[in-house]
Amino acid sequence: MTKAYDPNNIFARILRGEIPNKTVLETPHTLAFHDIGPQAPVHVLVIPKGAYVDFAEFAAKASAEELVDFHRACAQICDMLGLTGPDGYRAITNAGSHGMQEVPHYHLHILGGRVLGRLVSPD
Ligand code: 5GP
Repeated sequence: MTKAYDPNNIFARILRGEIPNKTVLETPHTLAFHDIGPQAPVHVLVIPKGAYVDFAEFAAKASAEELVDFHRACAQICDMLGLTGPDGYRAITNAGSHGMQEVPHYHLHILGGRVLGRLVSPD
């Protein structure tokens, strides 16, 4: 079961305008901004404006409108940032302690601009 949403998490505060961000794209249900500690030349975080802790909760509970808006925004960001060519990119999301999720508001990391290595390290 997903834990309760914490309205004071950093991304909730960004959505309320309490913390600045470098916005890449904003749509009715979605905000995308540059990660504060980029791990690749392109490192963008895409978040729904709704209060969802992780991917599973968003996938299960978001409206069709929110789901479409979020994923179309992701596609637009990949296009805007030049990631749709043959070099590709990675879109990943972390959840919970095993996933080492740091911020408990669902977010998709979109990374690109270099070879990103294997998805999971052996340790
Ligand atoms: P997670 O580990 O939860 O999947 O990823 C959280 C991400 O949020 C990290 O990559 C981290 O650098 C980023 N992050 C944490 N605080 C802030 C912030 O205040 N602003 C921005 N733009 N990114 C943040």
